[in-house]
Amino acid sequence: MQSRVLMQIGVALAVVLGVASGAHAADTIKAVASFSILGDMVKQVGGDRVEVTTLVGPDGDAHVYEPTPADARNLAASQILFINGLGFEGWMERLEKSSGFKGNTIVASTGVKPRTMIEEEGGHAKTITDPHAWQNLDNGKLYVANIRDGLIAADRAGKAVYEANAAKYLDQIAEEEATVKQALASLPKDRRKLITSHDAFGYFGAAYGLEIIAPEGVSTESEASAQDVAKIIRQIKAEHVPAVFMENITDHRLLDQIARETGAKIGGELYTDALSPADGPAPSYLDMFRHNVGALTAAMSS
Ligand SMILES: [Zn+2]
Repeated sequence: MQSRVLMQIGVALAVVLGVASGAHAADTIKAVASFSILGDMVKQVGGDRVEVTTLVGPDGDAHVYEPTPADARNLAASQILFINGLGFEGWMERLEKSSGFKGNTIVASTGVKPRTMIEEEGGHAKTITDPHAWQNLDNGKLYVANIRDGLIAADRAGKAVYEANAAKYLDQIAEEEATVKQALASLPKDRRKLITSHDAFGYFGAAYGLEIIAPEGVSTESEASAQDVAKIIRQIKAEHVPAVFMENITDHRLLDQIARETGAKIGGELYTDALSPADGPAPSYLDMFRHNVGALTAAMSS
């Protein structure tokens, strides 16, 4: 009797496992995201149906990334690739070609109104597109819509799931947006200035009313010249900029020097182009905003 019950349980278990693993194989798709912030957004929208591999991981610098053979293998095995676009991933086109990737490429920033700036390069003024559009939550909503539509195109059967996940996530983003606007609007106008090492907060500053000064321009590829640094030091002193912020993806030495020479205080570390590891203060896109706004308001209100 006992053995028969056990046998029945065994059969039932086999059926359950069989169904579960069958469903797993049939219902999930493989996606690659170029960097950690985008990877989190794809996970939020994809939920259990999407296996996401992120190329440039936590604290990584996507401006100067060098893809690995493992990246090419992951990409080749994927149905869909998500990139930021706006010139952020200069290394991607070559990786796509060399990997033999056959899936769809979704540019998450499609529809964003790009910010451009003039930068000096070898004595010539050059117009450069600022890729850091995710730092405005309103753009984040566009990213989510593009991710949702991309996933639906690659996996029709998951349409209802992607729509529901995206709707829920869009609500969370809108809620965070209201919180961010309220927190930063409460800061005195003459204190809403900050220094970061590379210019990753252009969209953030424009959206939330902050003035950003950055010695390195919109990419981490070029180093600030001694002249740039001297100019910024004069500007900080003249405008009484209250705080200098480190970034999780860049070397801290330049900003240490600027803080020393100007007396501006170090306002902590901002997450600009990458999330923190899971146990850090900014393991998701929305956590990144909560952390950054917390650090900014703490440094600027005191
Ligand atoms: Zn950047």
